[in-house]
Amino acid sequence: MPATGGCLCGAIRYTLKAEPALTVVCHCTHCQKASGSAFSTNLVMQRADIHFSGGEIAAYDDKADSGNILKRSFCPKCGSSLMSESSGRPGSAVLKAGTLDDPSIVKPGMEIWTRSAQPWVKLGGEMTKMEKGR
Ligand SMILES: [Zn+2]
Ligand SMILES: [Zn+2]
Repeated sequence: MPATGGCLCGAIRYTLKAEPALTVVCHCTHCQKASGSAFSTNLVMQRADIHFSGGEIAAYDDKADSGNILKRSFCPKCGSSLMSESSGRPGSAVLKAGTLDDPSIVKPGMEIWTRSAQPWVKLGGEMTKMEKGR
């Protein structure tokens, strides 16, 4: 850090101004749908520490299990998932680590929603595991 990243087509770029407070692998069914993959890798940040540049960002208001609205932001051109923000955690944001220019710098510390994890996904390391959200 400061790390940089962006969407697949390059229309939207960002710089992170701080280290993430937490890095969480999320196995929830909504992250599986939104990412088109088996899980999403989320950098929990202050929203103010993510500096976007480039084009307009589109968003979808998803509804979380908690009842909170989860605003999922993505590139309207290429569809890459970029960030989500929960109405229950104002000022906080979750950046999708797969969009980093160098995702190998990420050090996940926790797995959440393991009850909906795909049976063929086994991640290494000594991560804290939670059946549901944090
Ligand atoms: Zn794009
Ligand atoms: Zn999730």
